[in-house]
Amino acid sequence: MSEDAGLRLMHVHAHPDDESSKGAASTAMYVAQGVDVHVVTCTGGERGSVLNPNMDRPEVLENITEIRRAEMEAAREILGVTQDWLGFVDSGWPEGDPKPPLPEGCFGLVDVEVGAEPLVRLIRSFKPHVMTTYDENGGYPHPDHIMCHKISMEAFEAAADPTRYPDAGEPWQVLKLYYQHGFNRPKAVALHEAALELGIESVFGERLKEWKPDPAWDARVTTKVPCAEYFPVRDRALIAHATQIDPDGFFFQIPMDLQQRVWPTEDFELVKSFVESSLPEDDLFAGIR
Ligand SMILES: [Zn+2]
Repeated sequence: MSEDAGLRLMHVHAHPDDESSKGAASTAMYVAQGVDVHVVTCTGGERGSVLNPNMDRPEVLENITEIRRAEMEAAREILGVTQDWLGFVDSGWPEGDPKPPLPEGCFGLVDVEVGAEPLVRLIRSFKPHVMTTYDENGGYPHPDHIMCHKISMEAFEAAADPTRYPDAGEPWQVLKLYYQHGFNRPKAVALHEAALELGIESVFGERLKEWKPDPAWDARVTTKVPCAEYFPVRDRALIAHATQIDPDGFFFQIPMDLQQRVWPTEDFELVKSFVESSLPEDDLFAGIR
């Protein structure tokens, strides 16, 4: 048995594919160390658009829910995680100005206490030492990502409280809670500059023109987990979500060795902790091991 056997990590994500695009390399690393990693997926991704031109076919669109389930199964195998669905329905990305109202019954509209209940149940049965979710803006402002944040915060607090959700299992105190900070601007700048230095085309040029510096936001990162060795596993898991990921898309145009050299970490913000650990950290289990 590995020295890390017995440690448990829970990631709460909005859609199938988020577990592969956020924190997936550190997930694979922790799995390799013997940590049990459980992914909770709030919605089925029913309203996600098909983002891979090769998969944009009528028969794919007609069976999108089943296809996304099968994609998730493949990603789960690649990452070595277990997973549960909370069973809520994708809100879709509201397009238009003004934005249209969210579709009736979607995850973005659920009452937070109702949405948190199945998550409290999973926390109390899986008993994670560490949990991750999105920041208060959802990481990006998709209504399902914002709701994922809200129910995670509620469930993190409530799972430990014997007076809350008394029918949802024995209380469990998660020791640390993190926000995912995978897509940060300093990382984009570092990859952009390294690409230019090597004389290769940078995929970040246009993006960085729109993306204004926000040092206070960037300073919220407390924890950088070195996991470059597992970037290829992350990419395989991403590609398993074939309807959502274009293998010729911008992300895969950044050379792997450049990513591994320039930004070898996945980044997180510690927001709640019941253990002592000194910041900055390089391990989600600092203070727990
Ligand atoms: Zn998502």
